[in-house]
Amino acid sequence: MVFNIQRFSIHDGPGIRTTVFLKGCPLQCLWCSNPESQSNSAEISHSDLLCRKCGRCVAACETKAVSLTGDVLSIDRDRCGACGKCVETCPNDALGIYGKEMSVEEVFQEVERDRGFYLNSGGGVTVSGGEALAQPGFVAELFMRCRDEGIHTCLDTSGHASAAAWRDVLPLTDLVLFDLKHMDSLAHERTTGASNEKILDSLNLVVESGKPLIIRIPIVPGINDGPENVEAIARHVAGLKTVRKVNLMPYHRFGEGKYAMLGRSYSLAGLEPPGEVRLEGICSVFRSAGLECEVVN
Ligand code: SF4
Ligand code: SF4
Repeated sequence: MVFNIQRFSIHDGPGIRTTVFLKGCPLQCLWCSNPESQSNSAEISHSDLLCRKCGRCVAACETKAVSLTGDVLSIDRDRCGACGKCVETCPNDALGIYGKEMSVEEVFQEVERDRGFYLNSGGGVTVSGGEALAQPGFVAELFMRCRDEGIHTCLDTSGHASAAAWRDVLPLTDLVLFDLKHMDSLAHERTTGASNEKILDSLNLVVESGKPLIIRIPIVPGINDGPENVEAIARHVAGLKTVRKVNLMPYHRFGEGKYAMLGRSYSLAGLEPPGEVRLEGICSVFRSAGLECEVVN
């Protein structure tokens, strides 16, 4: 279940890459900028901004999932089977479907298109999410296919995955991008929906494998950017011998509009992204711990 394939990506590992975003995630981070990645099934989106309330989608929907009362269009998501008929009928591109089942071969054909760019830039394929390891069989097969063709493989993960999933995928992975959010397990659970024990176990497993590792830290003001947490992460990461560098990923608001399009509310509305000075201050904590650190916008 794929929700996006992004070509010419330059922030998801070395060189020019194709990033394959898989749908489905065991976490629900409050700041998630890809809320369409969280559910593991296809789902409908509706833009009230683009909608002209013409009612064509109501007529097209066989399950009566869409209704129009006055100028309010409502979607009953429990009734919606994501068939896409309303999307085809909308004259204003106000509707869309997030998520599509694709075979390994279909995804590989997309990835292979930019093989020349990978070779010239030291790039390759990155599988991200959602949580890529929620579909370990698919990732393992795709990575195997890519490696057979000499394409570098990178896994972008929250770390919240089973040991079995790691066992399937890690041997086929050339580089791991590993998210760390909070060292305080209760704060982690409060803000992502899950405690951090499984994630820290996963991190040990990756370090023991000897695979190159880049730690990525979302910096979310008031949630995980306090000195205690930053210093605790720096101490923890400084002790891991396979870490190549630390990337800070500043919180941004680009995903906010998608929550409404999915019929969901956004709990961090109004939160301002961190400023340059704050980010530089956090970077310096990691550098003082002997780690290479950069901000990735
Ligand atoms: S068909 Fe499109 S523009 Fe018309 S009511 Fe439905 S979503 Fe709105
Ligand atoms: S995707 Fe299909 S089931 Fe869902 S609202 Fe549109 S027409 Fe109805």
